[in-house]
Amino acid sequence: AEERFVAANPTSRRLHARAAEVMPGGNTRTVLFYDPFPLTLARGEGCYVWDADEHAYTDFLVEYTAGLYGHSNPVIQGAVEAALSEGIVLGGPNLLEAGFAAALCDRFPAVERIRFCNSGTEANLFALSAARAATGRQKVVAFKGGYHGGVLYFAGPNPLNAPFPIELADYNDSEGATALIAALGGDLAAVIVEPMLGSGGCIPAELEFLQALRVATEKTGALLIFDEVMTSRLAPGGLHGALGLTPDLVTLGKYLGGGLTFGAFGGRADIMDRFDPRRADAWPHAGTFNNNVLTMAAGLAGLTQIYTPKTAVTLNKRGDKLRLRLNAAAAKLGLPVQVTGRGSMMCLHVAGGPVRRPGDVTMPKALRDLLHFDLLAAGQYIARRGMINLSLPMTDSDLDGLVEAFAEMLETRRSL
Ligand code: PMP
Repeated sequence: AEERFVAANPTSRRLHARAAEVMPGGNTRTVLFYDPFPLTLARGEGCYVWDADEHAYTDFLVEYTAGLYGHSNPVIQGAVEAALSEGIVLGGPNLLEAGFAAALCDRFPAVERIRFCNSGTEANLFALSAARAATGRQKVVAFKGGYHGGVLYFAGPNPLNAPFPIELADYNDSEGATALIAALGGDLAAVIVEPMLGSGGCIPAELEFLQALRVATEKTGALLIFDEVMTSRLAPGGLHGALGLTPDLVTLGKYLGGGLTFGAFGGRADIMDRFDPRRADAWPHAGTFNNNVLTMAAGLAGLTQIYTPKTAVTLNKRGDKLRLRLNAAAAKLGLPVQVTGRGSMMCLHVAGGPVRRPGDVTMPKALRDLLHFDLLAAGQYIARRGMINLSLPMTDSDLDGLVEAFAEMLETRRSL
């Protein structure tokens, strides 16, 4: 499979070699790298992308959920072009940001006040810093397999992690997390959790686990932060809205910027109001591009004109159906292959039993490579680690195409 991949992609290979001379590994995002070289993408339209050798793919990577609107939505393009024509680095509050902030506060029940930044990573760093300042405490609890940004990454050892004292607990282990939170007591500033592990393999949190975190943090006065950078797409009010939970702070990102660089953090008014510069004890919050007009325009147009609550429900129902079909294809062959997830986000695993945390899945690298190359050869662009996401332009026949390629791949590789 790898040989076929190399032979089919001479331009990507050449571009990668040249890029590697100036960027370590040939690229500036670790997640996009794979051996022997990643495909260079030249352009996208609707839910399709073309690589530098002109192969077309259905895009199921969907920029790790940020590409919800697809590559050429006319509403997004129109909003960006309109903003462009009014000047792009205005250096003052602009005409768009308050409306966008209001739309977000309207939409996400736990978000009473919000502030913008440039990425999900920044949003989490600000939320955690705010939690530490608000409580006057230092420690943070996060979960094994959690991903909150390149400097808040807990799937393995990461010497670059932000220098917060972070204790790790097991995902979906209510008792373990409750005991840890209680033991840290008055030293614990915050618990940060993805209500479904995204990068960690689209593993949903059990409701009882999230409820236990809510109860345990309330007891000790630690703040509960939901990282909804990925999961806010899963329901009209985000996953916390769907589950009826009220975290103290919520972080947002990805598609909410309309496909442009974006992050935001918000939540309880009494905490967020500490950022009010009119206060004598105000917390500072800086960022040259926090309110950049292109993101504000694309994000506002996307949320209010395209990804309405009704559209969110429909898209996620389609995702649920797709996941069932993929699982049925694996079950038919009696293979220990599972697709976990919720709504429009899912991930392919090799696992015989229930998948409740990342440790429950085993995917040997050789097999992961094969599946990935097989699907690429069939015109299906998914994330190397098995993640599959839906975007709005996808038609039923695009989804059928993935199911067929998936079933064929399993059939071909069933003996492995
Ligand atoms: N939190 C989660 C749950 C994410 O999935 C990501 C990105 N994959 C981030 C935070 C970081 O967002 P960004 O890449 O915009 O910094």
